Amino acid sequence: MRVVVLVGGVGGARFLLGVKAALGLPAVGAAPPGSPHEITAVVNVGDDIWLHGLRICPDLDTCLYTLGGGIDPERGWGRAGETWAVRDELAAYGADPTWFGLGDRDIATHLVRTRMLRAGYPLSQVTEALCHRWQPGVRLLPVTDDRVETHVVVDNPESGPDAPPQVAIHFQEWWVRHQATLPAYRFASVGADEAAVLPEVGEAIESADVVLVAPSNPVVSIGTLIRVPGMAQALVATKAKIVGLSPIIGGRPLRGMADACLSAIGVDSTAEAVGRHYGGRGEGGLLDGWLVHTTDSADVPGAQVRAVPLLMTDVAATAEMATRAFELAGVGVG
Ligand code: GDP
Ligand code: CA
Repeated sequence: MRVVVLVGGVGGARFLLGVKAALGLPAVGAAPPGSPHEITAVVNVGDDIWLHGLRICPDLDTCLYTLGGGIDPERGWGRAGETWAVRDELAAYGADPTWFGLGDRDIATHLVRTRMLRAGYPLSQVTEALCHRWQPGVRLLPVTDDRVETHVVVDNPESGPDAPPQVAIHFQEWWVRHQATLPAYRFASVGADEAAVLPEVGEAIESADVVLVAPSNPVVSIGTLIRVPGMAQALVATKAKIVGLSPIIGGRPLRGMADACLSAIGVDSTAEAVGRHYGGRGEGGLLDGWLVHTTDSADVPGAQVRAVPLLMTDVAATAEMATRAFELAGVGVG
């Protein structure tokens, strides 16, 4: 079976563990040779940022580390057994910014990536090279090799006669430094107009047996990646069924601050509102199917809705979620 999964960071990576397990593959690490299944993860790059001269790709790294067995399980991001000597030394120099947690082990990943990018390799090839070490057992593809960065329009913290009333800051500055507490007026995808979907992503979606939309942030993870030019056409054209899983349970995101992103775009933090925001495919939207948690209900015109447990408490529960998604798509997992 050829499975394509659209993912962001923590929610996406955890869901991928379950997709692998549902297909009988080891959740962590490489697939055994001769496996009849091919999983392609299409990963958001909107959170990517240059810091201290290094290219950081938070969602790709979370997928790499989670699927490769290197993640810090408590934080959900970054490396297990991390130390912070470089961060402390940078702070001692007063080198800005100090609000982004760059661990020593993690920095090695960013050094390798930045060196390859500077040598002219596209992000997709750099990611493939990093996968040689981590063996994630899925094909990890950035949605595009082009720079598409999410910026957030907020009130200008500087006041003064010449200061514009609003400014755009990088998503990471809003999310990590300000903990998404600054009111956001809108999100901008810087570079999206000139970007193109990675050809391999288009091909994977075209030849997929099923496309899953992970329970990732609907605005800054999934929203950003489905708006990369070429994605909409690929998703409309595929014969595969497209099934999404709600990241919102009981009117709240499970971890993180996705509700702040939803309210910025005027969407309620409910499973129904997010399903309607994606839209039913029968009505020109994204979804053939929408899974909501057992305590929720939703009516999404043009999509089939089912209520099943959606808590990724462990790999077994997450594999059950993937299996329910396969069922709703009408594909067997023999
Ligand atoms: P990020 O890039 O690290 O923010 O991660 P993603 O965009 O992939 O996923 C974040 C989303 O995952 C949040 O909006 C959460 O609501 C969702 N999430 C986290 N854990 C769970 C879970 O156990 N079940 C469901 N349904 N969603 C979850
Ligand atoms: Ca992210």
